[in-house]
Order: sequence, then C-alpha cells, then structure tokens
Amino acid sequence: MAQDETKDVSARTAAGSTAAPLVVTGTVTSSRLDVRPGDVLVATEFSTVTCASAPLLTGELRRAGRRVRAGTLAELGVPVGEPVVAAGLRAALPGRPTAVVLTAGPANWNAGGNADYNADPDGSVGRAIEAWCAALGPRTVLLAEPRSFCAGVDRAIEIVERLLDRGPHPVYVRKEIVHNTHVVRDLAARGAVFVEELDEVPQGSTVVFSAHGVAPAVRRDAELRGLDVYDATCPLVSKVHAEVRRYAARGDRIYLIGHAGHEESEGTIGEAPERTVLVQTADDVAALPDGEGAASYVMQTTLGTDEADSVAAALHDRFPGIRGPGSDDICYATTNRQNAVREVAAEADLVLVVGSANSSNSVRLVERSVAEGTKSLLVEDLGDVPLGLLAGAGTIGVTAGASAAPALVDEIVVGLQALGPVRTQEVRVATETVTFGLPSGLGEPTG
Ligand code: SF4
Repeated sequence: MAQDETKDVSARTAAGSTAAPLVVTGTVTSSRLDVRPGDVLVATEFSTVTCASAPLLTGELRRAGRRVRAGTLAELGVPVGEPVVAAGLRAALPGRPTAVVLTAGPANWNAGGNADYNADPDGSVGRAIEAWCAALGPRTVLLAEPRSFCAGVDRAIEIVERLLDRGPHPVYVRKEIVHNTHVVRDLAARGAVFVEELDEVPQGSTVVFSAHGVAPAVRRDAELRGLDVYDATCPLVSKVHAEVRRYAARGDRIYLIGHAGHEESEGTIGEAPERTVLVQTADDVAALPDGEGAASYVMQTTLGTDEADSVAAALHDRFPGIRGPGSDDICYATTNRQNAVREVAAEADLVLVVGSANSSNSVRLVERSVAEGTKSLLVEDLGDVPLGLLAGAGTIGVTAGASAAPALVDEIVVGLQALGPVRTQEVRVATETVTFGLPSGLGEPTG
C-alpha cells in the first residue's frame, strides 16, 4: 500500500451495509516527544467515528514487531492539518468501518528530516491493513452462556476490593487472586501487592489467599508471621479440601485427579501430602503401584469433564471399590461453561475463548471447542485476535473462562461490529444463581 492513502475499500463493503470502509494511512509528524520515527500510530477515534477495531490492528502490528501507540489523534500528537489526516476526516462517517494507521515520519528525528525515509520497511503496516480489509464483512456471533466470572471469582475479587477500599495499609495477595492477567493488573493498579510466598509479606500485614486455596502449611506459616489473613479460597475448592481431610482421617490412600503444578492441586495435596497421589491421565493410573487398604479419589474443580471421567473410570478399573466424592468435584461453573461452548462450537467456524494461559478452566474451553472439530483460540483480549483468523469466519463463537471479565467479551463483540454488521445470538445452557458470602468482617456482597 502506498505511503499516503485515504482509501475507500468498497470491494469489501459488507452485504447489507451502505457504508464503504475507510482506510487512512500515511506518514505524519507527531508533537509527542516520546514518539520516534517509524512508530505506528493507530487512532481509536477519528472525528466522530469510534475505531473499535483499533485493538485488532494494534495487536497485529505489535506481533509483527512494530512499536505501536494507540489513542485519539490528540493523544497521539498528530495534527488534524496533516494532509492525509485532513483528507481522511472529510471522508469519515459514523458507522463506516474505519482504520487509521499512521506512521511517525522523519520530522520526529531530533536531527531533522530524511527524504529517503521509508515508514514501512518490512511491509508490516501494509500487511496489517490488508488483513483488516480481508476480515471485513457481515457475520454472526454466538455468545456462550454462561461465560465469564463465576461466584468464586466474584467473591475473591470483591474481598480484595473491599480491603483496598478500607485501607490505609497495603493489601498483600499471595499468588494471583484468580488466574487472569487483566484482573491482577487492575487490582495491582489500585494498590494490591501480589507476592509469590509469605516471606515477602511484612510481619503483621494483611494478606489474602487466592481463590485456588492453600495448603494447611501456608495457613500455619501465616499464623507464625502474625499476618491478618483473609481467605478468598472458593468454597467449592474448600469442599474438596474437606473431602481429602475426611478420607485421610479414615486412613484411605487418596488420588487427586488434577494438573501438576496448578495451585489448586498443590493446595489440595497439602491437606494430606503423605497419602495423596496426583494422577493426570489414564496412563498415570495404569502406572500406579498396587496399594494396600481402602482408596478414594477427588478432583480438581476446573478439569474437563470428559477428561476427568476417563481418569475416574481408570481408577475404578484399577482399584475396584475405590470411593469418589458424593457429588462431582468439578464445579458448576466449569461444567456449565464447557457445555455452553460445546453447543457454540458445533455451529461456529471459529471459537474465541477469553482467558489467560494459566487459567485451567479457560484452557479446557479451547480443548472442548477443538474436540468439536472447530478452530479455537485462547485470547487475553481483542488485541490478541489475529485478523487473519477472522477472514472468512462467518460465524464466530465467543466465550470466556470463569476468571475473565465480561467487559473483555463485550470489547470483542464491539470490535467485530466495527468490521461489518454482526448478528449476535446467545446460546444458553444454564442460568447461574450461585453466590458466596464474604468472610466475616467484610460485610455482605454488594451484588
Ligand atoms: S471456577 Fe468453580 S471452583 Fe473455581 S472459583 Fe469458580 S466456582 Fe469456584
């Protein structure tokens, strides 16, 4: 694509839409001192037009290795009198899919201009715009329901928020309060101090245990350090801990079906470390030594239901008479989100799962979609969605793991709407009404 273009991409006009897309691209100056030549400037607003697909372009360019800034023209320091910008502004219309991808030119060199300056030496800006154009078009978005925050995550976040509001002392949180980058970043910005272990917490401070639960040894350590503990362990994880204590008290050897290294598994094993063995697969079960006496098993709450069932079946085959939990350890939120995404994946060309890579239940949603034969991707937010995946994807399923905020899903839907007309349809498999109370001293949930 040429250096300075304000271009109608009418060939990509979405069926049913009268608005031809608008691409504004070229080399400009920026008044910002921290903008360097070659920086890509992506506008999030252009005149009265909101460029809601800007995060898609920003992500695409960052993955290509470009330094990118996103914001309004004022925030980017780009004068509206720049020729390419002025021409674009004359063509801008609300409702028109719009991409404004500018490149800071040589005037941003302290040493002055350079006539041979090439703003797109690797072609990444041109490729990103072409990918944006290819992704334009009408589509259907299937929203899996339930999705996003569960009762345990809501409670854990609220505990930290209430402690932060109460102040004034620092609020320490052992481990990520829930496995989501945005949640942790937002709480850290409000003053929460995330630590890996209690030896990082000053004596007598306030500390919150994460939703995944902790081993009794951690509780004892906190007591020795004189810490003021607030426990955000999900009550459904606490239920599994109680099962382990009960099975251990009757002398069983215990198998935990779970994932090695996951904080929930570590906390659960910590209830009876001398008699609990982690098994992840049916092959692990086959490799177990024979055991003496009674045996029981429990499960990590966020497993794939099919995966857990197959390992439980292998345990029953291997150790006839083994006893499992009275009711399924896999929690309602995990089960509902997996059932909903299965329905969505059966109809979709692509399933986007919002969540972090260390979120077990989010990763399981990707696996469940792939098991339906549907391409699926785990994304932290809209910026993680590769434009190339959207081209030709007429039906896109969207869901979110239990630790990912609903607003991130909204952002994805709005971003897709900026690429053409979108018909949204909710695919509901259950209605969740579960809520959990707060620890004493923090009041009742606010809703
Ligand atoms: S996913 Fe399930 S176990 Fe985990 S916090 Fe949510 S409700 Fe609790």
